[in-house]
Amino acid sequence: MSGKEMMLGSAKEAVSYNADTFMLYTGAPQNTKRKDISELNIAPAWEYMRTHGIKDFVVHAPYIINLANSVNAPTYEIAVEFLALEIERTIAMGSHILILHPGSHVGAGVKAGIDQIVRGLNEVLTDTTNCCIALETMAGKGSEIGRSFEELASIYDRVTHSDKLRVCMDTCHLNDAGYDIVNDFDGVVDRFDQLIGKEQIALFHINDSKNVRGAMKDRHANIGNGTIGTEPLRYIVHHPLFLHLPKILETPYIPDPNDPNKEIPPYKEEIALLR
Ligand code: FE
Ligand code: FE
Ligand code: ZN
Repeated sequence: MSGKEMMLGSAKEAVSYNADTFMLYTGAPQNTKRKDISELNIAPAWEYMRTHGIKDFVVHAPYIINLANSVNAPTYEIAVEFLALEIERTIAMGSHILILHPGSHVGAGVKAGIDQIVRGLNEVLTDTTNCCIALETMAGKGSEIGRSFEELASIYDRVTHSDKLRVCMDTCHLNDAGYDIVNDFDGVVDRFDQLIGKEQIALFHINDSKNVRGAMKDRHANIGNGTIGTEPLRYIVHHPLFLHLPKILETPYIPDPNDPNKEIPPYKEEIALLR
């Protein structure tokens, strides 16, 4: 989302990759500076999406909001305030999924972090919230919460409106967290199903990983250039249980073969490869 086109620009970019869905950030993912809803160019974007076969898209909250911070009160308060506004923007734009990194406990311990996440989600989710928050499975780098399905389940257990929660499965993060999605994706899904319920999966982030399983690193690789590989990712993308769900690439830009100083998005080729 940038310039004057904003959401329309995002939709056009998605169509240029032959995508039939997409993910956007409502502004720069590293900060919380945001334009007014009236400037997001929503109606022209939907007009364009309708004529190009895009029926849905998802929104990702910025990285810097940390609901799990129990150490620094202002950080937590900014996160709650921002998240409430981000929910409003998501609904106004016509999406029903807002993806959120659960957060980092920054040294206070997993329990204190989860307590704080639950408190924050209970502040922003109400009876009438017409949107779900999809908690992302995390790699477990630093003090990240959400590395295990158990941690996500304990958030679900204590959020009042847990019917407004969903999960975003990130293949790089699952791998780095130690789940064997290369040899036993169905086993990983079974484990998730026992703890949370497979119908709670709202979407996938499809990324290869630069690190070995269990490394707790979180560095995305291009499809086929990492430790997961094309075939396991293709298996997930075409899995009959999840055919209807959005799959979003978050792979890195690649060097431009025509200009060594430039990087270009790999998405058109990667979508074709996985299809
Ligand atoms: Fe994410
Ligand atoms: Fe992700
Ligand atoms: Zn990641």
